[in-house]
Amino acid sequence: MKLTVLTDNNTIIDRYLLGEPALSFYLEDDGQQLLFDVGYSDVLIKNAQTLGIDLAQIPRIVISHGHDDHTRGLQALHQQGLLAGKTIIAHPAAFFPKFAEEQGQQLEIGSTYSADALQQICALQVSAQPLQLTEHLYFLGQIPRQIPFEPATPNGLIKQDGVLQPDFLWDDTALVYCGADGLSIITGCSHSGICNIAAYAQQLFQQQPIVRIIGGLHLLKQDERLTQTAAYLAALQLKEFHPCHCVSLAAKLTLSQWLPLKEVGSGHVLEWT
Ligand SMILES: [Zn+2]
Ligand SMILES: [Zn+2]
Repeated sequence: MKLTVLTDNNTIIDRYLLGEPALSFYLEDDGQQLLFDVGYSDVLIKNAQTLGIDLAQIPRIVISHGHDDHTRGLQALHQQGLLAGKTIIAHPAAFFPKFAEEQGQQLEIGSTYSADALQQICALQVSAQPLQLTEHLYFLGQIPRQIPFEPATPNGLIKQDGVLQPDFLWDDTALVYCGADGLSIITGCSHSGICNIAAYAQQLFQQQPIVRIIGGLHLLKQDERLTQTAAYLAALQLKEFHPCHCVSLAAKLTLSQWLPLKEVGSGHVLEWT
């Protein structure tokens, strides 16, 4: 398994790749190629060019959730003729309109494209259930919220069946790689809670150990939840821990006291078996 960070908030020094507050990973496993999220703009396209990655050759795109920092790159891909012929895999709620409320104003923060619009451009496969993507790689689908300190909490609004309602981010999902030494978890923003994601992955895959986590964790404040998360993850005895995207420096400093935290940025490559 080879994971290349195409887009992250940070960028590796001396590689001269672009960063943006968004996320996109390029995955190669068993001769198969996938994109996991597409960032906010054409940054993934520019970085792929610099890295010699041909986005036209990648048949599938998995979307972690509908927020624009993970989906808006679809517009850039379409504008450059790079979406036709591809299949997009996501939770059914990923392409519903989403809004943030700021000073009484509603700000659109969802995907530029609805599911119907996407189906005019490429193939769309939606699932709330887990899906096998390659021999070892799985899409988790909807994540049950079962960890007491990670309850379902609304983040903005979602328009579902014409009704604007609190968005519990049921579309937020992650990938799991079942490797030789255990499970590796690849996340977008972990709005579902990284411990909920880890617990669900272990339920689905016979309580195998989790050895590696890479991705956004939506941990921004140094609060009680962060301490509980750090303790939960520390008990997993991870070999590698690569929090990125939506993890503040303050949260990273706390997490680094408990976990083998490593840096991430555009251009970073991780390989494992
Ligand atoms: Zn998000
Ligand atoms: Zn995000």
